[in-house]
Order: sequence, then structure tokens, then C-alpha cells
Amino acid sequence: MTGRKQAESQLRRNAFYDGLTGLANRALFMEHLKHALQQTKRQKDYLFAVLFLDLDRFKVINDSLGDSLGHLKGDQFLITIAHILEACIRSTDIAARLGGDEFAIQLEGIQDVSDAIKVAERIQQELRGCLKVDGQEVFTSASIGIALSSTIDYDQPEQLLRDADTAMYQAKALGKSRYALFNPDMYANALARLQLEADLRRAIERLEFQVYYQPIVSLTNGSILGFEALLRWQHPERGLLNPGDFIPLAEETGLIVEIGYWVLYEACRQMQAWQMSYPHHSLKKMSVNLSVKQFCQPNLIEQIRHILDSTGLDANSLALEITESVIVENGDEVTAILLQLRELGIEISIDDFGTGYSSLGRLYSFPISVLKIDRSFVNPMTADNRSLDIIDIIVALAHKLGMTVIAEGVETQEQVPILRNLHCESAQGYFFSSPLHSSEAVALIATNPEWRW
Ligand code: C2E
Ligand code: MG
Ligand code: MG
Repeated sequence: MTGRKQAESQLRRNAFYDGLTGLANRALFMEHLKHALQQTKRQKDYLFAVLFLDLDRFKVINDSLGDSLGHLKGDQFLITIAHILEACIRSTDIAARLGGDEFAIQLEGIQDVSDAIKVAERIQQELRGCLKVDGQEVFTSASIGIALSSTIDYDQPEQLLRDADTAMYQAKALGKSRYALFNPDMYANALARLQLEADLRRAIERLEFQVYYQPIVSLTNGSILGFEALLRWQHPERGLLNPGDFIPLAEETGLIVEIGYWVLYEACRQMQAWQMSYPHHSLKKMSVNLSVKQFCQPNLIEQIRHILDSTGLDANSLALEITESVIVENGDEVTAILLQLRELGIEISIDDFGTGYSSLGRLYSFPISVLKIDRSFVNPMTADNRSLDIIDIIVALAHKLGMTVIAEGVETQEQVPILRNLHCESAQGYFFSSPLHSSEAVALIATNPEWRW
């Protein structure tokens, strides 16, 4: 080939192929979709499918593979994925990388939807095994959305890709490592999500968030040891929303970082004010939930220091609740961050303990002070001996590791003596009080209650 021919062919490659994986890029993929759509207009029974594939937890995987050479291993991982995809389709089908960890596949001339589902299942089957990247074992999975060319009367290739993307989101929302088939009802869901996201952004500006406070009570003397800060959203149309209604989306979109910062600030400010007003009461700790996303912020420690400085709250009066997934998914850096927090004097609790996948062997190597037993064990405690045994074991484990225990979700009086017998130090739940607006919480503090049982 002449130099010019070579240059031309190189330019063509750059324009239509993904530089990393060698798969088709978005432009070429859209070109193929366009042709396939045209064919459906000429040939009524011609059917094809678009699969939109997004790797679950890619960022975590990428970071855990990251080495001193940047993200080279992450790149290798993506190349491995590309090979797997190519191996799962026929030579007439097209696999493309749309960018990041997003891939798309066009399945040519299929018989019916089951053909597309088979391919999605095959891909997931292949990914579910353990992949080796440069000798390192990696576990991955993918969420896949499927759109069929016959579902609606498509005109533009972009519409098909968008619908496959919408279905992919649905698959992810249903718990990842799944596939979902697009249907027009999903428009409504997608719209509602967009609306909620827009509302959520505005909520920050419009100060629609509130922190509610639930007392944490000593099982030794029945006094209030502190509070857990729980976020509420005073939605202009939908009323008071619980975190379950919006935190998942806030986490997905990253908005949780800003919201979480606000909660932390507000809760610290409030605790400082209460401690000043009631210096002789037993108020020791404000517990604040920290999401995985917040935990991964590089300036987390700096921000917390700043909040403590500007609110005047003593670091010893702050506890941060993290879930087991923070520890499981983040490996070694987590220990470093937790140690820094501990050095500041902040207490770390594991929230919802028993529902995640803590490696018990590693638990002792983290500077954790408190295990909060998930309410799914506390709740059936009086009816079911097995939950009682589990609580017994968790308390024993915590004490062996030098930690204390908070029982979550205590709803009835009869649960209290049992928890005391199991040597559980403290508890929270509707039996003592539901989460309270700050004005109600301060009224409760003022009475300096001592629960008796
Ligand atoms: P969590 O941290 O485990 O909080 C305890 C949840 O249990 C709260 O739900 C609380 O209202 C509820 N609860 C308390 N006592 C009882 C009881 O006796 N029975 C029952 N059935 N439930 C009880 P809430 O306020 O809806 O919060 C749900 C979850 O949302 C929290 O679970 C926490 O993971 C998350 N969350 C809340 N606020 C924040 C926040 O500011 N930031 C982050 N990242 N997550 C938050
Ligand atoms: Mg919590
Ligand atoms: Mg909890």
C-alpha cells in the first residue's frame, strides 16, 4: 500500500472503530442500524434486535485493577469483554463499544424475541464466570436491555438505541446482572425518573430537605445516648418522602454527595446546639449515614474536618454509619480512610449488619466500633429462635472484636429484656421513638427521658 492509502485506511479505522477494543464505534453502529431499519421497511417480516449492555460496578472493578500505570488493566478488562461479546454473536451481527463500559449489539435477521434473549443469556453466562486480567481474578456481570425492531414503528436508529438503553436501566434497577425487554410502558418509568432527578436537583437549591432524628437509647439505664440523623424530603407535590423513595436515584446520579454533605453539616450543627443547651444530659453521639459514593470522595476527610470546625462539634460526638458494601467493595483504601476518621476521634458503625457480605475474617482489621444489628433479625426475634441465635452470635462477635452493639428496629417492650440478656448495649426503634422533626426531638430531650422496662 502506498503511504497515502495507508493513511486513508488508518483514518477510516479511527472514524469507525473503537481504538481500544477494535469493535465498531457508535458512528458505525448507527450506520448499521440505519440500514437494518431500512430493510424492515422493504421486508415486513424482517426482524432485528438491539442489545444495550452496561457492566455492573465497572468503576469499582476499574479502580481495583488500577495500578501505577494508570488504568492499563482496566483497559485490558474492557478488551476481554469485547472478545467475549464477539464470541457470543454470529459473524453477521455487530458488536460496538459506545464508550466507557457501554456496549451495543445488533442481532441481524432473527426469528423472534427468544433469539435475542438467548444471546443476552449467553453473554451473561460467559461474564458470570471469573475473568482473568493480567493474572488477577475479576468477577463481573452486565445489565442488558433489549429492543426489538418490531416493538413500535421506528424511524430513527437513535430511537432503537435509546429504547434498548431504557430497558437496560430497568434491568439495572431490578437488581443488575439481568436483562430486560423494552416495552412502551417503560417510557412512563423513564419519564418519572427524569422528573424525580430534576426535582432532586432543585430540592437542594430550594432547601426542601430536612433531617429527622431518632433516639438511640442505652439498654443499661434507659437514657438517650444520641440520635441517628435520617433524611427526609418535603416534596412540594408529593409530601414528605422517605429516603427509600429518592436515595437510590441520588446515589446513581451522584447527587448524594452534595445532599450527604448537607445532612452531615446540619446534623453536626444540630448536635452541637443540643449539647450546648443540655450540657448535663447524656447526649453523646450524632450518627450520620454515609453512602458508598460519599465514602469514595477524595476530599472526604477534609470536608468532615471543615464541618466539625465550622459547627464546633467535637469529633468524639460524631459517628458515621457505613454499610458492609463499603468495606467489601473498596478494599485497602477503605482501611486508610477509616483510620484517618478514627484518628480524628470519629466513631465508625456498620449499619444493617448481617444483611451484607462482610468477610468476617477481615472485620477485625477495620477500625470499627459499633455493629448495628439489622432490624430483620430484631423484628422476628420474639417469634423465631433462629433470629435470636443470630443476634446472640453477632453480639458475641462484636464483643470479641472489641465493638459494641446497637439493635435496630426495636418495636415492642418485650424485645428489650431479651436484648439486655444478650448483652446488647443500646437500641433504637419505634418502641422508643420514631424519627422526629428537630422541634419534636428537642422537646423529647428537654424531658430527659429514662425508659423503664
Ligand atoms: P438505616 O440507616 O438503617 O436507618 C434506619 C431506618 O429504619 C430508618 O428508615 C428508620 O426510620 C427505620 N426505623 C427505625 N426504627 C424502626 C422500627 O422500629 N421499625 C421499622 N420498621 N423501621 C424503623 P428511613 O428513615 O426510611 O431510612 C432508610 C435508610 O435510608 C436508612 O436506613 C439509611 O440507609 C438511608 N438514609 C437515611 N438518611 C440518609 C442520609 O442522610 N444519607 C444516606 N446516605 N443514607 C440515608
Ligand atoms: Mg443508619
Ligand atoms: Mg440500619
